[in-house]
Amino acid sequence: MKSPAEALRDQEARLQGCRKCRLCEGRHTVVFGSGNPAADLVVIGEGPGADEDAQGLPFVGRAGQLLTRMLESVKLSRDEVYICNAVKCRPPGNRNPEADELAACAPFLAEQLGVIQPKVILALGSVATQALLRTKEPIGKLRGRLHPYGEAVLIPTFHPAFLLRNPGQDYKRMAWEDLKLARREYDTRHTR
Ligand code: URA
Repeated sequence: MKSPAEALRDQEARLQGCRKCRLCEGRHTVVFGSGNPAADLVVIGEGPGADEDAQGLPFVGRAGQLLTRMLESVKLSRDEVYICNAVKCRPPGNRNPEADELAACAPFLAEQLGVIQPKVILALGSVATQALLRTKEPIGKLRGRLHPYGEAVLIPTFHPAFLLRNPGQDYKRMAWEDLKLARREYDTRHTR
């Protein structure tokens, strides 16, 4: 049997040159994911931005730096968790990924999660959360609680890019509550 690391490497190799949706036209790199292939906690963002597209790694720009600090605030390191996105290629001009692009990439994310088998999923922002939970409810209504997601629980929170654009204490406090909830669930379910 392949190890999770090998299985993810194979998957990433198969995705190179993907032309399943129009995002392939503007991308430089397929940004597959990074971190611990056997992580009990997976963080899922929306899609790569310019920095991620250039470096081939998720969450390495300003929002990524904030994500690192958010994780560290509940004593999680980027190496301990796994970080990826709902779509693997950068939407032009950083627009939101469209429904058909999310649908085209969904099997890849599902395969990735099938290998990692996380216990806890931290979904960042409305695009990733709504796509994963197949709902149109706003993030303000979805966050703050657990959602069953297969064998895992999904915890939605605000996207770090949103927090950077809206620096008020209220959003920060809510994000902090979500992170503490994620940490609690991680402590309860963490086995590896
Ligand atoms: N925003 C995302 O949703 N994902 C990234 O990888 C970077 C910024």
